[in-house]
Amino acid sequence: MQVFGLVGNPVGHSLSPPMHEAAYEALGIDARYVTFEPAVDEIDRAVEGAAALGIAGLNVTIPFKRDVLDLVDPDPLAARIGAVNTVDFSTTPPSGHNTDAAGVTRSFTHHGVDLDGRDAVVVGAGGAGRAVAFALADAGCAVHVANRTVETAEELAASVGGATAGGLDTLERIAGADVLVNATSVGMDEDASPVPAEHLHGDLAVLDAVYSPIETRLLREARAAGATTIDGAWMLLFQGVDAFERWTGHDAPVDAMNDALRARL
Ligand code: NAP
Repeated sequence: MQVFGLVGNPVGHSLSPPMHEAAYEALGIDARYVTFEPAVDEIDRAVEGAAALGIAGLNVTIPFKRDVLDLVDPDPLAARIGAVNTVDFSTTPPSGHNTDAAGVTRSFTHHGVDLDGRDAVVVGAGGAGRAVAFALADAGCAVHVANRTVETAEELAASVGGATAGGLDTLERIAGADVLVNATSVGMDEDASPVPAEHLHGDLAVLDAVYSPIETRLLREARAAGATTIDGAWMLLFQGVDAFERWTGHDAPVDAMNDALRARL
């Protein structure tokens, strides 16, 4: 039996175990997916121990995504983003990847949105914002990062290269954009949106990384404006799909994983 898992602190309410175990069941793979919660200063021992125990793969979540970068051999995209959310122990040293980026691009592709040559606005420049900005730029978008703390947006735009940056007062750029992603925590468990509704329009494809609630105020207002809307569970799903495919070499049973995920949301 293979063992996969998630390392984070806290990991109590993770949706990853049912999502991955649904995939193992659908494909008849003899594997389990378990959660691990090491102390915040013990992630190095946790990764070492996982390798020694023969764990096949680990997802990584808050607060360890940056720390793990230094504990594995990161692929070029994870190194540029500065965060690892997936570790593959099939090599020595283990390799590190960032499937949050694939979660973004595959969410748009799944909804028939072509990103190449599009103008994109990313709201937020934290952990999620970094993955989103790199993913969209690599997919061919011209990216503008708008963040409450302008310096953080500027740093992210500079590391992406060719992107522009500003404060939340630059959200008016959404008027001329094709793609909008909320990568702030605004809207999580609250009826609030980081984007004034007057900026939304029918030519936008809008992804909200926030998945609790599933229909955020931003998505509700974007849908009312005629935009294509993509909820945060799709991003969560496709980062898991990408990790599963990387670890197992199988095409993921996307519908089974999606059903398992949405049953828990
Ligand atoms: P983070 O690193 O803490 O970053 C938080 C971001 O939100 C920063 O850009 C911050 O701006 C901004 N922000 C916070 N409060 C704000 C406010 N009141 N007004 C305007 N901006 C505000 O968090 P994260 O890890 O990037 O996560 C952000 C969200 O994405 C969370 O809701 C998380 O659950 C979600 N997420 C979803 C997925 C998925 O698969 N769907 C994956 C990862 C994360 P400052 O820089 O100014 O502080």
